[in-house]
Amino acid sequence: MATDYYAVLGVRRDASQDEIKKAFRRLARELHPDVNPDPKTQERFKEINAAYEVLSDPQKKQVYDLGGDPLSANGGGGGAGGFGAGGFGNFSDIMDAFFGTASQRGPRSRTRRGQDAMIRLEIDLSEAAFGTTKDIQVDTAVVCNTCSGEGAAPGTSAQTCDMCRGRGEVSQVTRSFLGQVMTSRPCPQCQGFGTVVPTPCPECAGDGRIRSRRTLTVKIPAGVDNGTRIQLAGEGEVGPGGGPPGDLYVEIHELPHAVFQRRGDDLHCTVTIPMTAAALGTKCPLETLDGLEEIDIRPGTQSGQSVPLHGRGITHLRGGGRGDLIVHVEVTTPSKLDAEQERLLREFSKLRGEERPLGQFQPGQQGLFSRLKDAFNGR
Ligand SMILES: [Zn+2]
Ligand SMILES: [Zn+2]
Repeated sequence: MATDYYAVLGVRRDASQDEIKKAFRRLARELHPDVNPDPKTQERFKEINAAYEVLSDPQKKQVYDLGGDPLSANGGGGGAGGFGAGGFGNFSDIMDAFFGTASQRGPRSRTRRGQDAMIRLEIDLSEAAFGTTKDIQVDTAVVCNTCSGEGAAPGTSAQTCDMCRGRGEVSQVTRSFLGQVMTSRPCPQCQGFGTVVPTPCPECAGDGRIRSRRTLTVKIPAGVDNGTRIQLAGEGEVGPGGGPPGDLYVEIHELPHAVFQRRGDDLHCTVTIPMTAAALGTKCPLETLDGLEEIDIRPGTQSGQSVPLHGRGITHLRGGGRGDLIVHVEVTTPSKLDAEQERLLREFSKLRGEERPLGQFQPGQQGLFSRLKDAFNGR
């Protein structure tokens, strides 16, 4: 045999199992890749693994003592004189058993995705109805031009952290009642990044991004409503280390209109006309979103009736078409009549036989007395 397993572990040929185990553990602590990632050391580490695998197993030890190679007899070796990944994997199992699982998480990236951003945009009703294009000012983090997001001052670069040797975490072997336990924690020197920036970029203080104001042109589709959010992918905050940006959400805030109230995609307004116009019929000019139109008030229109203007509302956000504009009619009763007006109205009333009307009560619309009575009767 080319390899002297006893020499590798530094024990005599007549060493007891206990001595072999102790020697292995001492070496493993020293040479573990978590402690010492140097390639030469790792080669040694594989050797002690192989040596221990053979010498700790009475059967394999016997084969070895008689001049055989129990590892290649296992069929695990595979290559010319060396232990492949199989042997190393085997070793990991042993290490896990000895030290507890020391999972290799590796350094975390300095580059992370940025956050989403939101901006409120005020539009008027007409813009909501027909859609519009708006320029908005946004204030977000953008990649620092000075360091291109690297965070290092120009002419310098991030260096591998000497405390964790780029692993981003440091390991510690502690004794406990279970034996020796290896624990890992983020490297305090590099905060787990595995690299340190000796000379941070003066522009962004090493963050890789700076705040900047820019103008974006946003297309607002027809039919948006109060609270509608328009997503602009990739227009949000750039992440730390110049990481990919989040999204920007533009939240629509619809300004109230002087005349129209919006309910869904319908618009409502109220027109007030005198009693005579309601009785005789009239035409009312109305400035709609589409321009000046005439509302046709039919003769005999009652207060509270409405006149719909189909297709004069808000564009449906999905599916096209438009809602309606509904004009509610309110009839005013004339007051402060002069002598002549009063005389004419009395005459009119006499002609209609309405001098002493009884009035008509509608079902379900009884007055206060009826409601009180119901309350007393417990209905
Ligand atoms: Zn910078
Ligand atoms: Zn470190």
